[in-house]
Amino acid sequence: MYINVEKLKNCPGSSQSISLTEKIVAEDHGYQGVSFIEPIVFQGLVKNEKTFLSVTGHLSVMLEVLCSRCLTPFSYGVETDFSEEYTNQEGTAAADEDDEIHFFQGDGLDITEDVLRQIFLQLPMKFVCREDCRGFCPHCGINLNIGTCRCADDQIDPRWEKLKILLDRNKKEV
Ligand SMILES: [Zn+2]
Ligand SMILES: [Zn+2]
Repeated sequence: MYINVEKLKNCPGSSQSISLTEKIVAEDHGYQGVSFIEPIVFQGLVKNEKTFLSVTGHLSVMLEVLCSRCLTPFSYGVETDFSEEYTNQEGTAAADEDDEIHFFQGDGLDITEDVLRQIFLQLPMKFVCREDCRGFCPHCGINLNIGTCRCADDQIDPRWEKLKILLDRNKKEV
């Protein structure tokens, strides 16, 4: 995702609105396990702040992810704000390393990696297709969202088993 700043970089105080739409393959950038099913959309503003250029705006994208419980793929939308700073003055970039001012050369900002990082920061550790996804039966492996099995009936919950022993004991004592 490329922003041309040929004119802007020489005009302190000026700004320019940006609208980018780009199809990106997450795997090509080292992100595994998810894929973008729609182009990434960025709407924002690039501004010349004298010693650096600020890029602020809004990102939206639709991903396809796998449910961690039932392994069914489903769509997952991400909407997030974006705010990064870029400079072509090497001294400024190095001195402000803590503030993460990115270094750029030439007439363009490539914000792709920063955009991806921002999107992936929004993702949960685990995806669940829906709050009440029942996942797989641990005994027979059936997808419990689709079918039912009788495994649960055959298994005695260990907590109940203890109670059963107690009840049996009580019976004997009476
Ligand atoms: Zn699920
Ligand atoms: Zn089962």
